[in-house]
Amino acid sequence: MEKPNIILMVMDSARHDHMPLYGYSKNITPNIDEFAKDAAVFENAFTTSNWTLPTHASIFTGLYPSQHNVNAMDSILGKDIPTIAGILQKEGYETISVIMNPWLGKGFGLDKGFSVVDDVAEKRNNFFVKVYYKLLKTFGFLGRAFLINYIAKKHVDDCLKKEKPFFLFLNYMDAHYKFEPPIPYRSKYLPKGISYGQIKKASVIEHEHNAGKKAISEQDLDNINLLLDSSIEYLDFEIGRLFNFLKERGIFDNTLIILTSDHGDLFCEHKNWLGHRHFLYEELIRIPLLIRYPKLFGASRTKGIVQITDIFPTILDAVGVKEESKALLGKSLIKRIKEKDFLKFAIAEQPVAVLDVYKNHHPDFDVTPINSKQRAIRTLKYEYILSSDGKDELYNIEEDPKETKNLVEQRKDIRDALKGLMDEWLDKLPKLDKAKSKEEASEEMKKRLGELGYF
Ligand SMILES: [Zn+2]
Repeated sequence: MEKPNIILMVMDSARHDHMPLYGYSKNITPNIDEFAKDAAVFENAFTTSNWTLPTHASIFTGLYPSQHNVNAMDSILGKDIPTIAGILQKEGYETISVIMNPWLGKGFGLDKGFSVVDDVAEKRNNFFVKVYYKLLKTFGFLGRAFLINYIAKKHVDDCLKKEKPFFLFLNYMDAHYKFEPPIPYRSKYLPKGISYGQIKKASVIEHEHNAGKKAISEQDLDNINLLLDSSIEYLDFEIGRLFNFLKERGIFDNTLIILTSDHGDLFCEHKNWLGHRHFLYEELIRIPLLIRYPKLFGASRTKGIVQITDIFPTILDAVGVKEESKALLGKSLIKRIKEKDFLKFAIAEQPVAVLDVYKNHHPDFDVTPINSKQRAIRTLKYEYILSSDGKDELYNIEEDPKETKNLVEQRKDIRDALKGLMDEWLDKLPKLDKAKSKEEASEEMKKRLGELGYF
């Protein structure tokens, strides 16, 4: 069997409901829509948590947050846990990670198994990168995705020269708040009389907003959402250019391409919270997911529930590697489509209340509303969320997709049934030994994470 190349593309924080494939009214992703014409599109795909570190740990290991334990700012992925990059490396693949999100660089274990980690954020002092950021931030000539793809293409050409199959992981930060799309995208959807500069100024840091230090008006939130549209449209443009490059090199059809996001984001839809560190609402856990590899499967649209924990077994399936582990609950998406075998429900977890940024910046802020662990179960019709403080929420997604009416009191029958399923899932969940190792984030890492508003 010929080994396929694999490209795993994560559009960090991209919300499914801002994509036409998932019902959005604006035609902002023409290239992804074209790609979808001969891809498998999953309409009900869910992540496992609400922020970059635990969700990427799930993508790379196929494990749920309660299994991999990489859920806090001081946790790193256990050395003994197999990662998709590590397995592919042993199979003779060049394994390359091109990123600018510091959670994915050296320090939290998610670089494990990659022979090359091209961390753009780490190279901030590099002359080329400095000039690049200047051009992006000051003049708006270039976007972040351009830089990721520029580096990615060089790696692809190197692998083609070496005649080695490659696993290329790309994390794009363009759809991650705060949005900085390049010209001409940045003002494209803004109302007349409103400038990009005004919206940039109104884009307050999440923790400052959540701690009540800085307010944001409804009008500004609407405009920030328009900037998200521009950012996704720009990202789509660069993704289309990367696909064209693969076609020019003659490897588009011999590459398993997986396109997804790691979680969504909140723009004050629920109790005025901004960002993606707390809660497990629909905007955060439902994600876009498309896979394309015409040698093994054709186009399809699937309503059945799948999770990002299925990505790990999907890649192994395409490569023909068997990984026997009782800890893995996912299944190859290729097999799920063929066998029409989908999940009865998805599980998302927030096993740790991550409060470091509030302790560091707002010691007086009362963190009670966000100081709880959470677990959610999502069926096709309902989402049930249980917090460690005893509070729970039940929503009928079909009738109330924005989750505005908590039905816990009215529908105790459904609440009890879903809680029972969740408890059973947790009881049966295979736990791992030695999965956890702890390490303090370095000062340099804290500085970079601080720039993202995390520390
Ligand atoms: Zn993320």
